[in-house]
Amino acid sequence: MSRPVPAVFGSEFYPEMPTVAYQNGAWQPVRWQESATITLPAGAHGLHYGSECFEGLKAFCQKNGDIVLFRPDDNIARMRQSARLLDMPIPEADTFREALFELVRRAADYVPDAPNAMYLRPTLVGTDPVIGKAGHSTTSALLYILASPVGDYFKVGSPMKLLVETEHMRCAPHMGRIKCGGNYASALPWLNQAHEKYGANQVLFCPNGDVQETGASNFMLIDGNTIRTKGLTDEFLHGVTRDSVLKVAKDLGYTIDERNLTVAELQKAIENGAEAILTGTAAVISPVTSFVINDKEIPVAGQERALAIRAAITAIQYGDAPDRYGWIHKI
Ligand SMILES: *Cc1c(COP(=O)(O)O)cnc(C)c1O
Repeated sequence: MSRPVPAVFGSEFYPEMPTVAYQNGAWQPVRWQESATITLPAGAHGLHYGSECFEGLKAFCQKNGDIVLFRPDDNIARMRQSARLLDMPIPEADTFREALFELVRRAADYVPDAPNAMYLRPTLVGTDPVIGKAGHSTTSALLYILASPVGDYFKVGSPMKLLVETEHMRCAPHMGRIKCGGNYASALPWLNQAHEKYGANQVLFCPNGDVQETGASNFMLIDGNTIRTKGLTDEFLHGVTRDSVLKVAKDLGYTIDERNLTVAELQKAIENGAEAILTGTAAVISPVTSFVINDKEIPVAGQERALAIRAAITAIQYGDAPDRYGWIHKI
């Protein structure tokens, strides 16, 4: 079945959604409601003091008609981790998983064919209605999950110009691995400046020359037969796609080199013909087309390797290649 998808990514939602409230020290049963609006107290903790985190994953319609989720347990685990690090009520994995799968079952007819997908957005928000609780964790929360049919975020030939930012950080270093709205807000001034001043598409945050990630995707160099990326620290988001790319690339014969990378090393590698990529759920892999380093634009030579690795992953997602990793979960 090929359904039309909206032109703007994430602008339309399946009309129903599951919600689970945490109240009086316990998670309440799942309730289904319309997805267009939620009712929150005007004093809700999440709106005032940033107790909020979210997830992003996809469901696919495979060639044989199966509707599948890609690595859902990794996203559930990451949201529980984000909630824990923000000292919010931690969703129960089983209830969360069942609500997520039930949503995809109900929305199955709305999951579009390749190269499109159903993007899923679990959201957790602190709901204590007391604005005097600035110095306290929320003791109540709401978990809800949006489902949004989306087109392919990846467009062949589109520019991906990265401004290399060595002065400012994306977010506070201890917040980096938390998937929360506050981190996005924190990166916006630098992103807006990069658009206006350099016509850059994204900012690559490299505080003190340490290459980390962009505002919403992880970063890797494909240098000959070696994939280089920073090893996992608290400073940046541990992408599920990052992990998938490293595992698939290893099986394609690449050497994986996870350690710190400096801007000077990055520049040298690019000038010597290395490829560079961004990884994330929306586009899987976006090849970087140029960098702006110290006001100078440096083009990236190619993207063949990037596209081959991307194709190997999307083949698993759409059922064109066997899933040797246990990533695919049928609804
Ligand atoms: C979500 C996100 C990513 C990518 O994570 P995936 O699990 O691969 O989608 C990378 N960086 C940031 C800051 C993110 O929020």
